[in-house]
Amino acid sequence: MKHRGILIVVSGFSGAGKGTLMKKLVQQYDDYALSISATTRSPRPDEQDGREYFFMDKQAFEEKIANGGLVEYACYCDHYYGTPRDYVESQLTAGKDVILEIEIQGALQIRKDYPTALLLFVVPPDAQELKRRLTGRGTETDAVIRQRLKRAVEEAKGIEEYDYIVVNDDLDTCVEELHEIITAAHNTPFRNEEFIENIKAELEVLAKGEN
Ligand code: ADP
Ligand code: 5GP
Repeated sequence: MKHRGILIVVSGFSGAGKGTLMKKLVQQYDDYALSISATTRSPRPDEQDGREYFFMDKQAFEEKIANGGLVEYACYCDHYYGTPRDYVESQLTAGKDVILEIEIQGALQIRKDYPTALLLFVVPPDAQELKRRLTGRGTETDAVIRQRLKRAVEEAKGIEEYDYIVVNDDLDTCVEELHEIITAAHNTPFRNEEFIENIKAELEVLAKGEN
């Protein structure tokens, strides 16, 4: 069956391990292209412009919104985040699955505009572990951690909108599970309409004995 690129949306509470998982997934498999978002938040000490994010000010971000340069965007904890359009479109055309690591408002915009998108929600094994990971990462102040935990309460209300939840307990196991879910999603009939129409037409011809 011909492999066509699909959009893979990965959401989850801050600290659940999305960034860590996605880095491993793209290292292990060639099938995936990881989209780099634009944001107005400041870089963390270990982040580089153009690697984790395209960091920009509010005015530059709003210009991108205005000229249609983003496939989706949202405001998260006082900052804008959005997905640049050019990379997504070119990689999908090249047959790659494009991974968007984005929050729920953006995920729902994608579902509307790209009906074949696969929506995955990464969860930690339990809430205490989430707090441990968020604190252990050491990149946010206590006030920001509290703000992100509050946001997690809100995000939890939207989990049912997603196609699958994926528990990030053991990292390697979770990477394998993600890859298996994505592989299986490619074989759903609604993501293969062209293939199905073609084989139907071929069968009609064969059944008439014309070939
Ligand atoms: P997110 O991108 O979802 O905010 P990160 O990928 O930054 O989360 O992970 C948050 C912290 O948890 C990091 O310090 C990371 O090393 C750690 N982490 C991620 N996955 C696991 C895991 N499976 N087990 C233990 N620690 C993990
Ligand atoms: P962080 O500041 O921890 O890197 O990201 C905060 C939140 O913004 C995370 O839930 C992350 O998934 C989300 N996010 C990152 N990039 C985008 C984006 O392009 N669009 C949307 N809607 N959310 C994003």
